[in-house]
Amino acid sequence: MNVPPLNRLVPEHIKRFEPYIPSKPDNELIKLYGCSRLFRLNNNENPLGPPQAAREVIDRFPAARASIYPSGDAYHLRHKLAEKFGLDPEQFLVGNGANEVISFVIKAFCREGDNIITADKTFAVYEWVAEFSGLEARIIPLVDFGFDDEEMLGRIDEKTKIIFICNPNNPTGSYWSEERLRGFLRQVAGRQIVVVDEAYCEFVEKEDYPDGIMLIREYPNLVVFRTFSKMYALAGLRIGYLAGDRDVVDIIRRTCVVYSVNGLAQEAALAALNNQEHIHRTHEMVREGKEFVAKELDILGLPVVHDQGNFMMIRLPMSDSLAYRKLMTQGIMVRTMTGFRFPNYIRLTISDMEAMEAFVEALTKIVPKGEKA
Ligand SMILES: *Cc1c(COP(=O)(O)O)cnc(C)c1O
Repeated sequence: MNVPPLNRLVPEHIKRFEPYIPSKPDNELIKLYGCSRLFRLNNNENPLGPPQAAREVIDRFPAARASIYPSGDAYHLRHKLAEKFGLDPEQFLVGNGANEVISFVIKAFCREGDNIITADKTFAVYEWVAEFSGLEARIIPLVDFGFDDEEMLGRIDEKTKIIFICNPNNPTGSYWSEERLRGFLRQVAGRQIVVVDEAYCEFVEKEDYPDGIMLIREYPNLVVFRTFSKMYALAGLRIGYLAGDRDVVDIIRRTCVVYSVNGLAQEAALAALNNQEHIHRTHEMVREGKEFVAKELDILGLPVVHDQGNFMMIRLPMSDSLAYRKLMTQGIMVRTMTGFRFPNYIRLTISDMEAMEAFVEALTKIVPKGEKA
């Protein structure tokens, strides 16, 4: 900042923090890269759109209702969640996307000098919120693309307040089984808050994948995040939630900003929940897309890391930022992985076949023949 008297107001950790730069709107990008259309395959959005019941809520939302404040605590949605999971409505906190509940938890438990533990290659918002809050983020390297339970346990000290685990992990698609998660929780022994971010849980079809919300009764230090942005395709309305033990949620609730979740989002989420037909259709689309892309990448000799979730991590024989620019000129937007500490990798959102075919066609043009990544 170049205003000297104000400069002294800015904490060192804020001066050091690099702001996240969101992507430009479609029309700007199309102009910038000279492409004719744009497939956004960078944010793990669901191209099928919201479930039918949620669409109807959105279509019928009365304009006059925009003048009324929404329920300040997402009353009906929390009751519906409580019914779905057999818990108490007081065990849920709804936020402006799961992103917002990350801040709630950190604010509730951490003060200066404290630390949080997470992985080096995972959803970056846990680390960012910790850092711009002046806290230490202990970043434990993944092992074999997955969270390293032993090393994370070894880094816990008396200043550790929260451990963040992304299950399945964005961007690697790895996951912990129920046995592994329970083993970890047993060893933490209730001394820290363990957050399990289940943003992609509805995509997982593995028998041994744990439903974190079902474990809350046994482990009161467990807090689970869910979102309506990914499977339920409500990313634009910004709504997600956390679930936890009553007493833990009672503490976290103190840091909530009331009215941060708008009324339309609350109603659409309520309608979207449990829509099995929608989930089934999405699974089919993701399966078809993954199989197609994996087969084509194999022909190109490109290694893929993919297991769970509606995304795929791909290793390239070139820098990810160069690949990004070359793909953009062909109207394909992927996520570069340098920001996730995976240079030379991209993350691709699995979308419909039209988008997947366009991606493969564009990638084929930029990958030198016979060159192994
Ligand atoms: C997308 C995502 C979120 C955040 O979702 P919101 O849109 O803020 O609800 C949280 N965690 C992970 C791992 C995600 O990929």
